[in-house]
Amino acid sequence: MSSPPGRRARVSSPGTSRQASDAREEVRRRLKDLIEANRVMIFSKSYCPHSTRVKELFSSLGVDYNILELDQVDDGASVQEVLTEISNQKTVPNIFVNKVHVGGCDRTFQAHHNGLLQKLLQEGSAHDYDLIVIGGGSGGLSCAKEAANLGKKVMVLDFVVPSPQGSSWGLGGTCVNVGCIPKKLMHQAALLGQALQDSRKFGWEYNQKVKHNWEVMTEAIQNHISSLNWGYRLTLREKGVAYVNSYGEFVELHKIKATNKKGQETFYTASKFVIATGERPRYLGVQGDKEYCITSDDLFSLPYCPGRTLVIGASYVGLECAGFLAGLGLDVTVMVRSVLLRGFDQEMAEKVQQMEKGSPGVLKVVAKSTEGPETVEGTYNTVLLAIGRDSCTRKIGLEKIGVKINEKTGKIPVNDVEQTNIPHVYAIGDILEGKPELTPVAIQAGKLLARRLFGASLEKCDYVNIPTTVFTPLEYGCCGLSEEKAIEVYKKENLEVYHTLFWPLEWTVAGRDNNTCYAKIICNKFDNERVVGFHLLGPNAGEITQGFAAAMKCGLTKQLLNDTIGIHPTCGEVFTTLEITKSSGLEITQKGC
Ligand code: FAD
Ligand code: NDP
Repeated sequence: MSSPPGRRARVSSPGTSRQASDAREEVRRRLKDLIEANRVMIFSKSYCPHSTRVKELFSSLGVDYNILELDQVDDGASVQEVLTEISNQKTVPNIFVNKVHVGGCDRTFQAHHNGLLQKLLQEGSAHDYDLIVIGGGSGGLSCAKEAANLGKKVMVLDFVVPSPQGSSWGLGGTCVNVGCIPKKLMHQAALLGQALQDSRKFGWEYNQKVKHNWEVMTEAIQNHISSLNWGYRLTLREKGVAYVNSYGEFVELHKIKATNKKGQETFYTASKFVIATGERPRYLGVQGDKEYCITSDDLFSLPYCPGRTLVIGASYVGLECAGFLAGLGLDVTVMVRSVLLRGFDQEMAEKVQQMEKGSPGVLKVVAKSTEGPETVEGTYNTVLLAIGRDSCTRKIGLEKIGVKINEKTGKIPVNDVEQTNIPHVYAIGDILEGKPELTPVAIQAGKLLARRLFGASLEKCDYVNIPTTVFTPLEYGCCGLSEEKAIEVYKKENLEVYHTLFWPLEWTVAGRDNNTCYAKIICNKFDNERVVGFHLLGPNAGEITQGFAAAMKCGLTKQLLNDTIGIHPTCGEVFTTLEITKSSGLEITQKGC
């Protein structure tokens, strides 16, 4: 099936800086994609009576078609030129059926009369689907829904291989089930605990001992997740996307095998494929790791409180989990192999850490120090592995169809339109080589990919200046470059760093430390003090960073920050009054009110 009759495709305008020849190549590639992706593709002009006749013909045959109205796109003239090169036909309408150039209005009617058109249309049913998406997570669902919005026949395969501990979940992928959503809710549970402590200073009086109930929290969070799983299934159904709860594997260039829970195999074909299979937690590869350790895949639905916990790994996942477990009152230790939050601004990373002490546990862990011959021993109730994640790309038949992966990392290299080395196979999300592993990135890439494939858009996913937040008890939000990276790119002497420690108002009465929260911007002195790095350690850093990320997209400079009037009293306002440069060496500690 193709687009509903009358659906109009668009070509968005290319970036202004692109060279003319590049732009032309880009148009050519998009036109080819449109011709390949659509059973019937009509290049037309909205006012042309011949074009109208052809559209009426296909409508009367009950055949869906896609249209690109050349008079309604900015680059219509150049599109028509490239179209002439491709088809050897200058005029519109210009019609392609199943990749075959039929011609203009007269030739299409001729083909209809002599039966050629019907024959060409029948060949179009060669594939079961226009698009099959393997993986129903953030990226896959976004891409599938957008392709369906554009009238395509779409299938999504999503299958969760249970963790070694037996954890499994519903539709929606990592973010919804074992990532962002339960993590943020557990972070919130921990913040509420802190708020309870603060509340006494604000006059709240209560006598009973306040304690946290892990089972109640987990059940409430899992109920919320179930409602999200259900919502995703419903949306797919409403949009006409076929959802199959089976494991997908390529067997031929245009064919996949789908294996369900019972081991039953079904085969499906499609013109195009999107791989969005995400990642799963890595194991240590030592004896007993799968038997005795858990990962983030198990933590959020753990039926019992993890107790004294050792977290191995000190990046996003490790620190966030350690943070909320400690916030819930558990005794948590983080085993750090080298540095905290590798790749992040290290000054910020060092400020993120804070843990507590506790009681004995039942698992004995022996670890070898990376700095010397000594070993470290400890006993714990739970050992949580957060040592990174492996791409789910090695068991999906990529070798059968020749899709290249980075053999070392399992990541899939793609070009700037998320296309693999096999032209009809695309990849998005966490499995991409060199791209941030974040939900909104996967969603944006999936949506834009569908629009480019089936909607004639040229817009690419912009992977620059993507904001992110580490939801440790004290949140760390950032956008742009770390100080280390900025120095590498621009050189230290070309940068000005403005920074300050600050004391959130809500922390004053609560008696919390006045020199913990920290704000820093890194500016390029030779580009009007443009902000190239934004860093914030403080309450609600995620919410604050989101707004400043939009400002950075608009080319935020130090002067623009100075010109912005703050909202008082907030933490965010600190960025409108930054005065002390790091190079001045001036004191930034807060002495109190
Ligand atoms: P996924 O969402 O992982 O979806 C892939 C889907 O494909 C899965 O359902 C998988 O089971 C399925 N699948 C795999 N192989 C097959 C196959 N062969 N056949 C059928 N189905 C298959 N990001 C943020 O932006 N903010 C956060 O706060 C955040 N917190 C996180 C916390 C944790 C603990 C973790 C682990 C991750 C977090 N992330 C966060 C990252 C975010 O979850 C991922 O970037 C995002 O889910 C990636 O989406 P995706 O579509 O690439 O893959
Ligand atoms: P990372 O690959 O980023 O980090 C792995 C961590 O484990 C590092 O600290 C690494 O140390 C450590 N490690 C690896 N092997 C060992 C070992 N044998 N012993 C001890 N430590 C070890 O993985 P994450 O799983 O934390 O995150 C994956 C991605 O998920 C992130 O890049 C992020 O994009 C996404 N995510 C986003 C979140 C958000 O937006 N808030 C939250 C959580 C995840 P070393 O530095 O020495 O290599």
